Amino acid sequence: MKDVWETARYYLKVAAEAIDLEPEITERLSTPMRFVEFTIPVRMDNGDKKLFIAYRSHHCDALGPCKDGTRVKPDLTPEEIKALSMFMSIKHAIGDIPAGGGKGGIKADPYSMSKGEYERLIRGFIRRLVPKGAMIDVPGADIGTGEEQMAWMLDEYEQITGMHSPAAINDKPVALGGSKGGYEATGRGVALCTFEACKDLGFEFDKTTVAIQGFGQVGSVTAKMLFEKGFKILCVSDIYGAIYDPKGINITNLLEYVKKTGKVVEFPGAQSIDSRKIFELDVDVLIPAAVQDVITEDNADRIKAKLVVEAANGPTTPEADAILSRKGIRLIPDVLANSGGAIVCHFERIQGLSNDWWEEEKVYQMLEKRILGAYKEISSIAQELKVTRRTAAWAYALRKIAEAMRLRGWS
Ligand code: NAD
Repeated sequence: MKDVWETARYYLKVAAEAIDLEPEITERLSTPMRFVEFTIPVRMDNGDKKLFIAYRSHHCDALGPCKDGTRVKPDLTPEEIKALSMFMSIKHAIGDIPAGGGKGGIKADPYSMSKGEYERLIRGFIRRLVPKGAMIDVPGADIGTGEEQMAWMLDEYEQITGMHSPAAINDKPVALGGSKGGYEATGRGVALCTFEACKDLGFEFDKTTVAIQGFGQVGSVTAKMLFEKGFKILCVSDIYGAIYDPKGINITNLLEYVKKTGKVVEFPGAQSIDSRKIFELDVDVLIPAAVQDVITEDNADRIKAKLVVEAANGPTTPEADAILSRKGIRLIPDVLANSGGAIVCHFERIQGLSNDWWEEEKVYQMLEKRILGAYKEISSIAQELKVTRRTAAWAYALRKIAEAMRLRGWS
């Protein structure tokens, strides 16, 4: 496939065919209902004015207001933002969230800017976009943005409107109305899906071996939960390299080590291995939790794991997906496995709208109920339609979105 937008439209088409979706609905969902491109002028520290390009895509709002992240990276493309907004429509429908898919982005390199320049850029994004609030468009964080940037966005939005509106922006710091448990949400969801898939496959947790690519927010939380349940994590990698221990890595100690050094490499007691070898290891479970397009037609044939849980967005290319399916490898797709973050963002919005907050325990209980409910529905659709879990996940979401579209008289 040429790019992530082509991939997204391909998965949409495959699932639409599996459920005989009306061609009119498929066509409407094959392109965002609204896409804006705009510029943000920013005064740089040296006094120059620089113009940045930004985007916001609303894929489909049949189920509710468009919500989700803001990606900032130098090689950002409009196609990437369109695809991510479609993925969000699917994830929201999977999580039973009354929201549509939204995604925004700025073509910029946050790491080459001073903090002041970056703050002016982020505030400029809100000034130029003027999101219309919790019932229409709710930006959140993504690659290149985090809690601090969401706090700037919220403040800018509230300065413009003159009202406190905590539900207008997601992924905020807890002190400004963010949800407790938000940081762990995605990794926790990945771990819960992994436990469930292992039970389905008859794996005993303490005899199950795992390799995890990526030890950031998602990979580290997933690793911790698996380790606590007795899984043997043989290999962990990050952008600097990979470590391997045939006896199993002590994740509690690794977390301490990474806190001090910022990387997993040279963790005492583990061997260093070539990062690319992570996909060929003799393990039961493989969890890509780093970047997209890492399982490709070049390495899919060498994968020995019996279960792949996609913690990252789009780690498997469609060509590799077909190879894994042919080999009988069970795959839990990204739109389900990493939907925990989207689910807790929904809880954040509910808390914002009700001007209240929930204990972490309640957030975790509600997350587990939603993600495992979706897991079961998707497993039964996979059996009903005799399709992969990826197609079943998209089909499950499309059925809900299409029903809302029909009821609204859109088809
Ligand atoms: P992060 O930046 O916190 O961590 C990324 C990790 O991947 C780091 O350990 C980094 O060193 C490693 N990494 C980067 N490039 C790599 C490479 N080429 N090879 C090996 N390791 C590499 O990011 P995150 O928030 O943990 O997100 C990880 C993935 O999960 C991304 O694909 C993201 O889109 C997806 N995701 C994240 C969330 C969330 O809530 N954070 C939600 C849904 C999906």
